[in-house]
Amino acid sequence: MRHFPISAPSTTGDKRDSGCPHVHFVGAGPGDPELLTLRALGLIGAADVVIHDRLVTQEILDLTRPDALLIDVGKTGFGPSWDQGDINDLLVRHGAEARVVRLKTGDPAVFGRLDEEVAALDGAGVAYDVTPGITAASAAVAGLGLSLTQRGRNAGLRIVTGHDAKGFAEQDWRDLARPGAVAAIYMGKRAARFLTGRLMMHGAAADTPVSVVENVSRADERIISSDLIGLADALADVNGPAVLLLGIAPRTGISAALREAL
Ligand code: SAH
Repeated sequence: MRHFPISAPSTTGDKRDSGCPHVHFVGAGPGDPELLTLRALGLIGAADVVIHDRLVTQEILDLTRPDALLIDVGKTGFGPSWDQGDINDLLVRHGAEARVVRLKTGDPAVFGRLDEEVAALDGAGVAYDVTPGITAASAAVAGLGLSLTQRGRNAGLRIVTGHDAKGFAEQDWRDLARPGAVAAIYMGKRAARFLTGRLMMHGAAADTPVSVVENVSRADERIISSDLIGLADALADVNGPAVLLLGIAPRTGISAALREAL
């Protein structure tokens, strides 16, 4: 899907290969280059400038042109980080004169601050388009050989964050605490005790399953089977990015066997 600035519409036609100044927001997926879309692969390989997040893996950055300018605007979540305004300025500046890929981990539309960057480009009259990617939760359940929705268990799925701009994020806890509820919790490691406390306060059972999937799709992917009461302890030595799957238990033995077979 292509978009052009509302204020100054440009010509129509496919700009993806034409070399025009343009910003392509591209989903890099969870890390394994094989989980890139073909469109993402083409755009990454053609870009003059690649502005990427910290979680984009080296294998994917290796797919850029040798002469491409790579800029890491990674945010650590808690440590020092790039200011969003500075990232927006960088996109506008490079997007006005080069083929820019704004490479975001997973799907750019999931906890990726896409709207803020798009608004900056719109305001400056820079054209852009968005290429979706595989979000961490989808790849995490693929590793488990399970699905995020299941007939008779959960008719809906929540994608939530452990923390937001104000600190630990508040949610509709009563709904999340219901038996059978499933939520994919992003950025949840530091919020584990808060999550457990809030959910149990709203009636969730202490033994509600939680699967932690660290380094999804990478060589060091790790699945930790926990329950709500043990979640903080289960996360104690998790140092890589992790998605917490509330309400999902690995099928014992199956996921390991599945991986062996691959
Ligand atoms: N846009 C991304 C999410 C960015 S927010 C997506 O769609 O996946 C960053 C959070 O995403 C991390 O804190 C972690 O919870 C999750 N995440 C991203 N990549 C991951 C990976 N390879 N393994 C596990 N979790 C990951």
